[in-house]
Amino acid sequence: MDDDIADLEDLGPLEGKSVLVRADLNVPLRPGESGTPEIADDFRITESLPTIRWLVDRGARVTVASHLGRPKGRIVPELAMAPVRRRLSELVPGVQVLENLRFDPGEEANDPAFGARLVEGHDLYVNDAFGTCHRAHASVMYPPTVLPSAAGRLLRAELDALDAIMSGPPRPFTVVAGGAKVKDKIGTLRALAASADRLVIGGAMALTFLAAQSRGVGSGTVEADQLEACRVLLGSGIAVDLPSDLLATPVVAGGGSRPAAPEVRSFFDDVPEGWLPLDIGPDTSTRFRQEIERSASVLWNGPMGVFEEPAFAEGTREIALAVAACPGFTVVGGGDTVSAVRAMGLAGSFGHLSTGGGAMLELVQNGDLPGLAALRQGNPRHSRPPGAPAEGAVGTQAV
Ligand code: ADP
Ligand code: MG
Repeated sequence: MDDDIADLEDLGPLEGKSVLVRADLNVPLRPGESGTPEIADDFRITESLPTIRWLVDRGARVTVASHLGRPKGRIVPELAMAPVRRRLSELVPGVQVLENLRFDPGEEANDPAFGARLVEGHDLYVNDAFGTCHRAHASVMYPPTVLPSAAGRLLRAELDALDAIMSGPPRPFTVVAGGAKVKDKIGTLRALAASADRLVIGGAMALTFLAAQSRGVGSGTVEADQLEACRVLLGSGIAVDLPSDLLATPVVAGGGSRPAAPEVRSFFDDVPEGWLPLDIGPDTSTRFRQEIERSASVLWNGPMGVFEEPAFAEGTREIALAVAACPGFTVVGGGDTVSAVRAMGLAGSFGHLSTGGGAMLELVQNGDLPGLAALRQGNPRHSRPPGAPAEGAVGTQAV
């Protein structure tokens, strides 16, 4: 696709070149036996391999940079890259891994001095960290202003899949939305309502939509400041499916944690006060499944319930199975949604599984991201390599 972002092939000969790769190696960690952190799941590392291997196989010297967790500009030993470095060197020997980018306050502050230190000694830059592209952080913004730059394979896959969604995928096009908050997703839903034929809404988010239709949601959270936005979307003419039945559990006195096997009841119509709706019910699942399975394209973001608890995982599971069974073009994204489908063993069942939660929502809403705009500037087609004479092309580099 021509979005003016270069691909790996556009970087030219790689033999002997030093390439800085901004990857997403932000793996989940757990305490190891000796107390030092170990990797709980290395999928982010294995997913970065196609780009890294492609470069290494062509004779490039590769340095990988990533953040890990949220050290907030301070050195937090438990978030050091050591375990990631070890794992990556087992998979591709000889690759350098820089220390956690977010140990330095310059990363999140987009400090050019930090960016300049990062690119020192490198000839080329590759961004493969889609999930960070909605943040104007130094490792994403600075390198393409001085180095010929390209998208890695993971980033390219994201751009192609989301471009297909944004440019009007095959119809009927159904958007399935769930998860925690209307506030996080309403802008994206509004943008999608222009091209989608149907919105299917579950999760905690659905409660505010139901409240906007004067349905009782018991002790569930209603986002008062989003009621009007929900009403506007409901009245905009697009077909919107909301839950007909909800699974709820009694509120635990004193706000303590729920028992492992909580009392669960399903309610049609109003959920009574004192009950917390935590999943869509079977009638809703069946209706949602039918809409999803007869769609020509589906975008799904956000779990249908508190899938982390087995008693409230069924709605999300049903929807995951329906999207997997849909013969059309399917894109699934969102941090928690991806965790859910991975836990269910369905990660490989979709057209595209998006790795960037916030980045996906923002790209669909705005059509672009700060990190992508930056990467465009580094396209070797119209930026000149450092030190090379200007050729009358539109240069982006300060002289
Ligand atoms: P994603 O990361 O996929 O975009 P969100 O972060 O928006 O999804 O929401 C995921 C969270 O929403 C999950 O932790 C899930 O437990 C929670 N959730 C879903 N439905 C409900 C509900 N009915 N009540 C409370 N929490 C819910
Ligand atoms: Mg989330």
